[in-house]
Amino acid sequence: MKKQLVFLTICLLFLIGLIAGCSGGTNQSVSSESPLGTENPLKASAKTKETNDEEASSMGENDIDEESNEDFKVTLLGTGSPLLSMERFSNSTLVEVGGEKLLFDVGRGSTLRLNAMNVSPGMIDKLFVTHLHHDHTMGFDDLLITGAAVPDPRGNRENALQVWGPKGTEDWVNNTILSYKADIDVRNKVEGATIEATVNEIEEGVVYEDNGVEVIAFKVDHGPMEPAFGYRINYNGHSVVISGDTTFSENLIKHARGTDLLIHEVVVVKREGEDYKSEAIKNIEAYHTTPEQAGEVFKQTQPKLAAYTHLALLVSEEDAKLVERTKKNFDGEIVVGKDLMAFEIGDEIKIIEP
Ligand SMILES: [Zn+2]
Ligand SMILES: [Zn+2]
Repeated sequence: MKKQLVFLTICLLFLIGLIAGCSGGTNQSVSSESPLGTENPLKASAKTKETNDEEASSMGENDIDEESNEDFKVTLLGTGSPLLSMERFSNSTLVEVGGEKLLFDVGRGSTLRLNAMNVSPGMIDKLFVTHLHHDHTMGFDDLLITGAAVPDPRGNRENALQVWGPKGTEDWVNNTILSYKADIDVRNKVEGATIEATVNEIEEGVVYEDNGVEVIAFKVDHGPMEPAFGYRINYNGHSVVISGDTTFSENLIKHARGTDLLIHEVVVVKREGEDYKSEAIKNIEAYHTTPEQAGEVFKQTQPKLAAYTHLALLVSEEDAKLVERTKKNFDGEIVVGKDLMAFEIGDEIKIIEP
């Protein structure tokens, strides 16, 4: 009996250790008590402000959180880049607006982050792609097939997944579906669900309009990846702009002026050593936006709140000094986004920490 008790205790300790070990956690600022993906942030309390000094100072004294609009909510599902990270999945943003759920980019692990928001992949039937780099698209097959083939009481997709994206999107979608032919041919779908997609290859301009929601695509400058788009979502006198991947872009500035929330990408490379001289590193910096350049963009567009996503950092987040460097050019409100950080957009913007 005693032996059994000791054995059970050891098992229990081992299990606790295993769970703790699974919560990931490397060099990023995620609390081990609250591992990403295990908590429904919708249950989280109202806005909490950033806690570290740099970010806290960036929030200033203004109350930007008192009034909000639950009918226009943006959640950063993935704030990372191609770099592998358990804390920052690659790019994806959920915009819930006017009763719709619109997904912008579908990077690594998007379905897992949707699930953490209590949204099944089958509840998504509208996907807007900024460009066809894999860190923005590699979650597509999971979204498409899991949304139709894995029974989910929250909802499976009964209509084709509608995809908007630049030239080349049709080939990407069709070829992805073709690559799963062996699976799709035999897989049992949930009754009434469908593993199909329709594609709208877009040009600059209004690409979607329904239920008072307007989505405008605009061209950005992402080097040889051309065309690449950013999106502006307008609803009820408010707006959110998603930069997509871009270096400093005058066209983005034109379309982002006066927006409530500007979600912008950022890059920081190491500026010393042999690596910095390499063509590859120079290109990474040339095709993305440095914090100083982003500060200039924010200065010219004057968003109510600027939020960083797509942190392409080749230095530690601490050494990147994102807010400090941005503030050289912009003295407004900036927040460094995190996976599952959400924003409610109304007369005020409420930030919901993950
Ligand atoms: Zn890209
Ligand atoms: Zn990217």
